Amino acid sequence: VKKKLIYALIGLVLFFGLCCAGFAVSKSRSFQFFGNLTQRVDTKQKVVALTFDDAPGKDTKGVLEKLDKFGVKATFFAIGWAVEQYPSDAEDIVSHGHELGNHSYSHERMVLKTPSFIASEIERTNKLIRQVGYRGTICFRPPNGKKLVLLPWYLKQHNMQTIMWDIEPNTYPEIDSDTDKIVDYTVKNTKPGSIILLHPFGDKNKRTRDAIPRIIDSLQKQGYRFVTVSELMSYKGK
Ligand SMILES: [Zn+2]
Repeated sequence: VKKKLIYALIGLVLFFGLCCAGFAVSKSRSFQFFGNLTQRVDTKQKVVALTFDDAPGKDTKGVLEKLDKFGVKATFFAIGWAVEQYPSDAEDIVSHGHELGNHSYSHERMVLKTPSFIASEIERTNKLIRQVGYRGTICFRPPNGKKLVLLPWYLKQHNMQTIMWDIEPNTYPEIDSDTDKIVDYTVKNTKPGSIILLHPFGDKNKRTRDAIPRIIDSLQKQGYRFVTVSELMSYKGK
């Protein structure tokens, strides 16, 4: 009886450990089980990618105007249903020369889901991205940054890159609540090859929208050049 109890305890500890490890991997920005995952590109060149999640959304036009003013090309990670909701905004993103990435169809977590759910989330959104006129490479960014086994496996099979980020000011409430802090944090932490993630859409993100021109201006003055994520990847090792 004692032996059985010990085995049960060992089993429990192992199970708990595996769950913790699985959780850590699912949200890791730098590791996944299959395929490539990019958090930042290793380069000495002063290039940086500005990426916007949950596109298109309210005030897409305002964001595009700010980028045009500085001649900056960015990468917008689109949610399928939002493309259906705001198709002309998605078309504008494309016609202004920006990169359009896939951020799933429904923005549900892609962990502990069936293979067919994952395939449909990605394929529906890829189709919508093509429908609004985007012809370039389609990268993927997991909703909430979460991925475990099936999602990376699917992406690897379909030759799609997983794009994470190394700079995310909106994740810290004390920074997100203040435009000055969003700008300072982002500018201070940007390195050659950085991937900046901003959430600029919707009423609650006005501070982030206000921060965009200031981040660009400040980094351009330091000699940084803004490129799309796909372009940034071509600087690897350079
Ligand atoms: Zn998102």
